[in-house]
Amino acid sequence: MPFDHLGLSAATLRAIADEGYEEPTPVQEQAIPIVLSGRDLLAAAQTGTGKTAAFVLPILELLAPTANTSFSPARHPVRALILTPTRELAMQIAESVKAYGRHVPLRSAVVYGGVPVDPQVKETRAGVEILVATPGRLLDLVGQKAVNLGQVSIFVLDEADRMLDMGFIPDIRRIMELLPARRQNLLFSATFNDDVRRLSGSFLHDPETVEVAARNTAVETVRQLLYPVDRDRKTALLIHLIRTNGWRQLLVFTRTKIAASRLARELDRAGIAAVPIHSDRSQSERTKALADFKSGEIEVLVATDVASRGLDIEELPVVVNYELPLVAEDYLHRIGRTARAGLEGDAVSLACVDEVDLLRGIQRLMRRAIPWTVEPGFVPDRNMEPRPISGRGSPGASVRDARETRAREGAGRRGGIHPRGGRPRASGR
Ligand code: AMP
Repeated sequence: MPFDHLGLSAATLRAIADEGYEEPTPVQEQAIPIVLSGRDLLAAAQTGTGKTAAFVLPILELLAPTANTSFSPARHPVRALILTPTRELAMQIAESVKAYGRHVPLRSAVVYGGVPVDPQVKETRAGVEILVATPGRLLDLVGQKAVNLGQVSIFVLDEADRMLDMGFIPDIRRIMELLPARRQNLLFSATFNDDVRRLSGSFLHDPETVEVAARNTAVETVRQLLYPVDRDRKTALLIHLIRTNGWRQLLVFTRTKIAASRLARELDRAGIAAVPIHSDRSQSERTKALADFKSGEIEVLVATDVASRGLDIEELPVVVNYELPLVAEDYLHRIGRTARAGLEGDAVSLACVDEVDLLRGIQRLMRRAIPWTVEPGFVPDRNMEPRPISGRGSPGASVRDARETRAREGAGRRGGIHPRGGRPRASGR
């Protein structure tokens, strides 16, 4: 179905053509008419499905009649509020709003934590119709009377599952109390568990639902492959695979910041340009790392789950799980980094004997087994005893401990401390 069958105006269609999009993705095809009709929406869609345009395009359409060029802030109240968990996602959504809305005189702004608040105060006080925000910073700005949410008519909760994981729910509830009762609500989530359902049930009114990928199944176009390997030979195997496959642009996941830094160092030492991306690195370091990666100067980015969230690097051919994630859903998020918007991609996992429980959890979630192969020269030692992942207790108990630690770490990242994701626009796809 072409874009012009969805009820979008000429100005929006022009912006879509500028982006080089030829036809809507499934989530856009289904969600855009629902949002345009004014109904509440519950959408199951992962990053990479084109979900941002699925809500931004109809929001622009719905707000276009209020667009004006007045200098008075009062003529530019916040009419659409888009809440998202991380700084990167916020920036990417804001970029999309600017790109898709380039032919409509609506003002937009993005606010997130971890940077000085004053410029955001100035910008929001001047009046913006579309505000993209992380929850903590938004509440700060409301507290400083820089933002008034009393005229919001469309509220978007993006990545609701991640919001829950990161402990944002009290903030979201406080924000919702500041919104008018009569409004349109859109909720997007990559995964649906009972908590997400409870949250959506608490504020969506008779929503239409859209589900683009079957629940909790991996992106179909990702080729998954797992290499069993001894724990102390993972780095050697990774180096071997990078060299023999000629991989160039690679995103590698570790469970911890320490492991990310260590692995990046080891790859660098082997002559493979690699940098870690995690929250201990300064904003400018991470922005530079991402720019160097996109230019090809850096071949490997080593990231933890939280830090990688929202990194939108288009056409990423290979994702490697150097360590399996503690939370099975994170495996889906990780492999969703490749094969974006319908391209093919490879997701390769290196798993040692310690990670058998994690692998089982992932396969149970996907309801399918990951194909595996043993690389010659890296045959795992069958007699190796599993070690607990966090280094104490029984393997099962320690996975639980580590999950709790991870949840706590996630909850500590309020306000978004993530680097600028950035994305090359108008890639012509
Ligand atoms: P998202 O899931 O919103 O993060 O979008 C993933 C990527 O798909 C972004 O880089 C978009 O620019 C791109 N994209 C969104 N809609 C389309 C479309 N209809 N055709 C081609 N690419 C698209």
